[in-house]
Amino acid sequence: MPTAPRKRLRWPKHRKADVAILERPIVGILGGGQLGRMLALAAAAMGVRCHIYAPEQNAVAAEVASSHTQAAYTDEKALRTFAESVDVITYEFENVPVSAVEFLETLKPVYPRPAILALAQDRLFEKQAAEKAGLRVGTYVAIDSAADITKAPANLFPGILKTRRLGYDGKGQISLTAPDESAFAALGNVPSILEQRIPFSSELSVLVARNKSGQLALYPPIENQHENGILRSSSAPAAVSPAVAAAALAAVKTLAEKLDLIGLMALEFFVLADGTLLFNECAPRPHNSGHWTIEGSYTSQYAQTIRAVLNWPLGSTQLRGGRVKMQNLLGDEALEAADHRRCGGAAVHLYGKDDIKAGRKLGHVTWAWRKHRTEH
Ligand code: ATP
Ligand code: MG
Repeated sequence: MPTAPRKRLRWPKHRKADVAILERPIVGILGGGQLGRMLALAAAAMGVRCHIYAPEQNAVAAEVASSHTQAAYTDEKALRTFAESVDVITYEFENVPVSAVEFLETLKPVYPRPAILALAQDRLFEKQAAEKAGLRVGTYVAIDSAADITKAPANLFPGILKTRRLGYDGKGQISLTAPDESAFAALGNVPSILEQRIPFSSELSVLVARNKSGQLALYPPIENQHENGILRSSSAPAAVSPAVAAAALAAVKTLAEKLDLIGLMALEFFVLADGTLLFNECAPRPHNSGHWTIEGSYTSQYAQTIRAVLNWPLGSTQLRGGRVKMQNLLGDEALEAADHRRCGGAAVHLYGKDDIKAGRKLGHVTWAWRKHRTEH
């Protein structure tokens, strides 16, 4: 059968922006974990250097970056020297003190801006911001004392009491079938919120990137499975109706624009049986549920973050193939990584962490396949 003549590839004309690319910018990254490691690897592939700033020893991101500072987030001298050595600053760790990020912003651009980080660090503030932008949120109430738990409306039970700050992987949460004041002390007597337990039919996340010029890129919704509050696996595109997918993308676009996002952000949603979307939380950094974009998308979330903070044109967020699945390797599951390596089509990622602890994220595996292949 005759084939259509192939379109000739045209190289873009030399533009001024290309010159900035040749200057080999340096991106400063606060945080030394696996997200920083994957950011530095993606940056290196584009000729961009990264400087990792992290307080811990053995920061796994530092291993693959061109420079590294090991210092506390309160060390103003070290922060200043770091800022002077980079062109722009981002973070891979959500619990970086906002005071450090605000200080850095007086010296170099920090994206996403400190105000967005401050929102995302507090479950009450992020829910209020989402509601203000017109997104639907599950029923919740702020809990500032043990007595507030008994005063909470009855429709919040069964519910989940969560600390407003510093929770991750389901930590800092207690399930409550009925009011129980002792839960407040069990979480450390800290400001918390009580959320109604949502009878969701699935969980979604959506990644969005935006650069300083206002260019916005949305990834297709991702479907997530959690176990004991920890992400187990993600697949894309999510098996939801086109209407639900469109509503999720519209909500994310609205919030990104309202917050004037520069950088990359992930939003998590609960999907109810009737297709209603409820905002859960947001993270202004690459997200665990987006690891699959390394093999599954034309532009990984890591490359996209680097592009966004440098105000480069954003890359395509289309899937390369039909369907992608990512599974976290938690604790000693990382020991099975070698087996996955033998299986064709599986991309194994290990983060270089040396202590194996139950539930710790030590790596992940991604399977990407064409439309006609069956599920793994
Ligand atoms: P991570 O940082 O890993 O995303 P987290 O510790 O910040 O998680 P959440 O996202 O609030 O915490 O909760 C983790 C998981 O627990 C959710 O993805 C969901 O599976 C379940 N969960 C949390 N809140 C609710 C809720 N209100 N109703 C039902 N399930 C919930
Ligand atoms: Mg979450």
